[in-house]
Amino acid sequence: MALRLFNTLSRSVEEFVPLDTAGKAVRMYCCGPTVYDFGHIGNFRTFVFSDLVRRYLQFRGYAVTHVMNITDVEDKIIKRVRESGGTLREFVSKYEEAFLEDLQTLGCLHPHHLPRATEHIAEMVGIIDALMKRDIAYQAADGSVYFSIEKYRACGCRYGQLVNLNFDQMRVGERVASDEYTKESLADFALWKARVPEDGAVSWDSPWGQGRPGWHIECSAMSMKLLGPSFDLHLGGEDLAFPHHEDEIAQSEGAGWQPPGQRFVKCWLHGAHLLVEGKKMSKSLGNFFTLRDLLANGYTGREIRYVLLSAHYRETFNFTLDGLEAGRAALARLDECLTKVAEVARAAPERTGGSASLSPSGGEGRGEGAGNRAAAPDQKLLDEFTAVMDDDLNVSKGWGTLFEWVRETNRLLATNQLSPSAAAAGLAAWERLDSVLGRGRKSESEAPADSVAMLAQRQAARAAKDFKRSDALRDELKAKGWVIEDTPKGPKLKRT
Ligand code: AMP
Ligand code: ZN
Repeated sequence: MALRLFNTLSRSVEEFVPLDTAGKAVRMYCCGPTVYDFGHIGNFRTFVFSDLVRRYLQFRGYAVTHVMNITDVEDKIIKRVRESGGTLREFVSKYEEAFLEDLQTLGCLHPHHLPRATEHIAEMVGIIDALMKRDIAYQAADGSVYFSIEKYRACGCRYGQLVNLNFDQMRVGERVASDEYTKESLADFALWKARVPEDGAVSWDSPWGQGRPGWHIECSAMSMKLLGPSFDLHLGGEDLAFPHHEDEIAQSEGAGWQPPGQRFVKCWLHGAHLLVEGKKMSKSLGNFFTLRDLLANGYTGREIRYVLLSAHYRETFNFTLDGLEAGRAALARLDECLTKVAEVARAAPERTGGSASLSPSGGEGRGEGAGNRAAAPDQKLLDEFTAVMDDDLNVSKGWGTLFEWVRETNRLLATNQLSPSAAAAGLAAWERLDSVLGRGRKSESEAPADSVAMLAQRQAARAAKDFKRSDALRDELKAKGWVIEDTPKGPKLKRT
């Protein structure tokens, strides 16, 4: 079975075939954050989704190049820089750093490239220049340079590939200076915005005078610079399909740099919104939680990631604190099961001749050394997970498969029927699955309560100079997968 993805361009689920003739390399671009504030978890739903896409492609054996830009100059940022009284860089660097920290907290893999818009002005000028030479762009009386939808269409190009547009509404010659507008205000959009006093020091030289780029040209320039004029995947939240992505296609294909017959992007993926009481979580509606708000309330990055990854990426879902609590409980169930499975796998030498050996996948133990980390993974679990994920990344069914395994494994554990080799196979499969889900390991502070209690007992035994007991407790903890680490703040449990 091949991976199939919903391509917004064709509005259908298609088999994913990379442009690379060897079928190995995949180039993907995800529109990154506008760094004018801390990201809210709606934003992070989209970034966690792009992390899932990357991880799953890697799981499927592709060599992925993942680019995510940093939008560090656009309308909203300039307004805030003005209010801050500082420089653009001073203002954005705080939010850029926070964003990267948040990505890490959520267990997202670091993109291979994180280009900043302000460091790619020359590339933007290059595209605008190509559009001017092809007569698709023009400079208006205000000094700004606009993209002419009429001229573009006259060249035989299609404007309105991602969304259906009503051109009757468009009055030729009308222009839109703002980066954000609706389909109803369809008009020529700004490529280069002539400097106005409110821009302060935020401007660059260009063949058309001092100014700054429009938001859309930024992504065309950074993506084509790093991935070439034609690449495999472009991602973003669904609100970006129009006008941002539509305009990216128009500018990038308008410049005409793609090899014959190839498009700017082969497959466009759009993630649905995270809602609050039925409305898009957004800064402007004020109905948002930043990641930091939730961390301050005691939730962990992995719990929040779990919730953001629980629904299919094309389904909107409502964020609630009850949902987060339910996610916490589900994750705890999974953690607990995996801890027990790891104990069974580690206890192999003592257990081998003893308990009945029944694999949760229905087969007899495969005879790997128990606790053997290189055990062959439980193929049934892997196959079931792959089948649902291949179907347009159906991650909610992916979790379903995993929780079914948890249920069955708990049943076997309760009746002492999980063999060490089956446990090792289950763990090996889990590690493959987790390379996609990115649940990550629990930190030492999250050791189960019984292990924390044993640590306290060991400390008490040591204080009482009962070294036999303290050593026995240390060994018992080790068998459970925890080593004791002495820190300046006292002893802590760490995963073996
Ligand atoms: P921004 O920082 O505003 O440029 O947005 C960054 C990303 O977050 C974009 O891909 C948006 O589409 C996405 N986004 C914004 N709001 C939401 C939301 N409520 N749910 C999911 N994604 C969102
Ligand atoms: Zn973009």
